[in-house]
Amino acid sequence: MVEAVDSGSKPLLSPDGIRTDGRKIDEMRKVKMEVGLLKNCSGSAYIEQGKTKIIVAVHGPREAHPKHLAQPGRAILRTRYHMAPFSTSDRKSPAPSRREIEITKVIREALEPAVMLDEFPKTSIDVFIEVLQADAGTRSAGITAAALALAEAGIPMRDMVAAVAVGKLEGRVVMDLNEEEDEHGQADMPVAMMPNVNRITLLQLNGRLTRAELEEGLSMARRGVDQLYEMQKQALREKYTSSESAQEED
Ligand code: ADP
Repeated sequence: MVEAVDSGSKPLLSPDGIRTDGRKIDEMRKVKMEVGLLKNCSGSAYIEQGKTKIIVAVHGPREAHPKHLAQPGRAILRTRYHMAPFSTSDRKSPAPSRREIEITKVIREALEPAVMLDEFPKTSIDVFIEVLQADAGTRSAGITAAALALAEAGIPMRDMVAAVAVGKLEGRVVMDLNEEEDEHGQADMPVAMMPNVNRITLLQLNGRLTRAELEEGLSMARRGVDQLYEMQKQALREKYTSSESAQEED
């Protein structure tokens, strides 16, 4: 994660609680979601959260390769989080960075409890998360889009998963940090949840929060997850209504 540093002279929050991009403290960036954009995979999803843009493709369940990785009683879930070389303002090395390896792991752990892996013994389910443009919150937006792509692939799930990063600016807890806020704010806390079973599947914290701020951050994340979950359902509904009307036209 980007090191939390003091914002210095430029305030990230006005005295009346308005952020540099005009948002209120509990306001999420504009989110757009779409499913089923790619044809050569089992499921796909696209998310835009502010300037962060991510596409996810899911393959499987399919026979696990290499075979020795196959589990007799369940599917294996594999993830890959990757930032496109053109996704950041600085040049990004095409080799997987330590950060990408860490995010790959936490995304898998955030999704795994939701996927009914025991229904598909000896198979693998592969989730490719490609960050096209990064403006903070890529692990959380990646999780939200990955859960959507898994659902679109028809993979049985116990619940959806949605995620948002909350943070702290000028001593106030805020929703969904952008890159400037992530870089210069006092704390960044990505949270993933299964909304219906009320389970947290990812919780990271960079920076410091008091106990009260942590609790406030968690309830703010819960509200963010609820908003994202509604949008996930809407994206799936739109896909099915548009494919039904396409069938009627045939
Ligand atoms: P997240 O994207 O989940 O918030 P981080 O906190 O590690 O993860 O990163 C915050 C943001 O910093 C990223 O979304 C991206 O905008 C920027 N960033 C991360 N890595 C790089 C990099 N190698 N070069 C330029 N910007 C980066």
